[in-house]
Amino acid sequence: MTKAEGIIIRTTDYGENNKIVTLYTSEFGKIGLMARGAKKPKSMLSSISHVFFYGLCLFNKGRGLGSLYQAESINPFRLILSDIEKTGYAALIVELTDRLTEDSQPFPGLYRLLRDTLLLIEKGTDAAILASIFAVKMMKVAGIDPEVDHCLRCGNEAGPFKFSLSGGGILCRNCEASDPYALPMTPSVARLLPLFKKIPLNRIGNISVRQETIGEIESIIAAYYERNAGIRLRAWRFIEQLSHFRAKE
Ligand SMILES: [Zn+2]
Repeated sequence: MTKAEGIIIRTTDYGENNKIVTLYTSEFGKIGLMARGAKKPKSMLSSISHVFFYGLCLFNKGRGLGSLYQAESINPFRLILSDIEKTGYAALIVELTDRLTEDSQPFPGLYRLLRDTLLLIEKGTDAAILASIFAVKMMKVAGIDPEVDHCLRCGNEAGPFKFSLSGGGILCRNCEASDPYALPMTPSVARLLPLFKKIPLNRIGNISVRQETIGEIESIIAAYYERNAGIRLRAWRFIEQLSHFRAKE
């Protein structure tokens, strides 16, 4: 029997009564656990077998699928779960974690990044900014870390820049012709991308970014993941719909 702190990043129904939960932990990385009886309302596991559960879990780590026996919540993430926008951004964060990691490969730095990002959203720090910072930092994990400090071809540090999806970074005005599909970037986006890559989470504080700017960053991030990691996240679609809704208000 093993006890470990973790966050549930996905659940799948299994049969009439059970769920398979995907738990992300510091010690073991991502693991799949059968939560027997979790679909029965009276089961002890029913209240904890949901995405964003964060707590101490008692489980048996089998060779393939293990078994979850008990869990005790550390933070119920009430604010995240009560706000549709925060839920959407948190969903993006756990979906990225799930899609970009392999089973049973411990990566304590990533666990801390995931946990601390969710905790900051729960404390009320801007969820859109945090999700973009998380997504930019995860590019390194995905092996597609872009060059955002200077032009990827000539090293020029002076903008304006365009963002080259195929080149993997920014291109200055002299070099932008090398990628006719490079995306235009406003100076704010060019300034924020390197900041998002480097800033430690505990220093985000009350960073404020205009709605349009965060929208531009989200579009670049989504296109970059699609082009270079081959993944199109379900949560992006939801966030896109939310932003259209906001624009109409
Ligand atoms: Zn250049």
